[in-house]
Amino acid sequence: MNSKKYHIWTIGCQMNVADSNHVAAELDALGYEPVERDEEADVIVLNSCVVRQSAEDKVVGHTQSLKALKRRRPGVKIALMGCFVGIHPSPELQKQFPHVDFFLPPSDPSSLITALAAESGTAKQLETQTTTARHRLQDEATTTPGPAYQSIRHLSLYREPPVAAYIPIVYGCSHACTYCIIPSRRGAEKSRRLNDILAETRDLVRQGVREITYLGQIVDRYGKDWGGSPDLADLLYEASHIPGLWRIRFLTSHPNYLDDRILQAVAELTKVCEHIEVPIQAGDDEVLRNMRRGYTVAEYKQLVAKIRRMIPGAAIHTDIIVGFPGESETQFMGSYRILRDLRLDKAHLARYSPRPGTVSARTMTDDVPDDEKRRRHQTLETLQEGILRQKNAALVGQTMEVLVEGQHKGKWRGRTRTDKIVFFHHPQDMQGRLVQVRIEKYGPYSLQGEFMEDVSTTT
Ligand code: SAH
Repeated sequence: MNSKKYHIWTIGCQMNVADSNHVAAELDALGYEPVERDEEADVIVLNSCVVRQSAEDKVVGHTQSLKALKRRRPGVKIALMGCFVGIHPSPELQKQFPHVDFFLPPSDPSSLITALAAESGTAKQLETQTTTARHRLQDEATTTPGPAYQSIRHLSLYREPPVAAYIPIVYGCSHACTYCIIPSRRGAEKSRRLNDILAETRDLVRQGVREITYLGQIVDRYGKDWGGSPDLADLLYEASHIPGLWRIRFLTSHPNYLDDRILQAVAELTKVCEHIEVPIQAGDDEVLRNMRRGYTVAEYKQLVAKIRRMIPGAAIHTDIIVGFPGESETQFMGSYRILRDLRLDKAHLARYSPRPGTVSARTMTDDVPDDEKRRRHQTLETLQEGILRQKNAALVGQTMEVLVEGQHKGKWRGRTRTDKIVFFHHPQDMQGRLVQVRIEKYGPYSLQGEFMEDVSTTT
């Protein structure tokens, strides 16, 4: 008999990518095989995002588009997962999408996996493995006081393991920025056990993964929800001892929690990449107050100066929202000046989108017209692109360490420690190799270079 097939569609943040890998691993363990096209699948999982209206529209559109498929093949199982569903799936969802069989909270595919396992008679087996069946987010979040999560077993994580993988270390978020829907959809902040994370890291490395990115909505709050020890710095020190793991990253940081212990760990540990993602969100103190971010522009600038002092050559990435309620032209220019003056290494730009249930949607007027949001977005994009061109031009002639993640249009593609994308030619299979590349050409978003030497190690 042919094995059953699954297809996973993912949009949104890195946490969703990690969650989808987890679902894939669970389905692999049940004997399912991944397929590219949803028409060929017996199980379809849509892993959703609602951070902005545009993402939500895509989720609704994609979910609706599967209606015809379900009519043609009623046996196909459709699961809608993630932030569109939220930690407490509303009964309304079933009415809105009668063709969907499972509604799965973020990071928790247990009801799907248990049902499929029961169907194939592997339920008993499954229970003896510490898999999703015991990884119940809501229950543990409400009944267990301490660190609660069982390990997520990335049982096989694709047929061929990726070079770089994500591991969630803090679920949910308790910060409640006024614009953000994530806390209500992903629930309260909850750190995972250090030993589970380390075991999972070792597992992935054993399968061939070379770079791990630890994830959390506010990753530097790792451990803070249960007393602060062990914390993210401890995790970085511990993970650095894992043989065969070459690179470690973590994201996303919050300016108030990215403390000196963490920065010191990045500075000291050679495996931890000098790459910090720390969003400012706005370059004006009143807007930051309205967003309830908890810091000022001056404090953010001091933090950037400190990162650069403690971690020479660090790449610093930020996020900025334009058109937050009440953002005047003058206040917007604060965001412009921040990008112009700080010359950061990446800026994720977003136009403000009111989200249901958030403080800003309930109590503030979305008064910056769409055209104006677009203009502000474009203005910052053009500015940042110019900065990146200049910064990348300065790299020409330098030799940089690149971890090769795959191929693209006949070239090898990898990233530097500072998260820059580099392409180069080589006749042999370079996947998963750590190489030195001399940079020869540049654009704002990637570099091209010539292969110099393979510096892959065994430790
Ligand atoms: N917890 C992480 C990621 C949040 S979502 C953090 O704090 O950085 C990723 C980005 O989406 C945010 O940093 C923010 O810039 C943007 N974002 C969140 N809510 C938004 C909204 N309502 N409208 C527009 N952009 C939003």
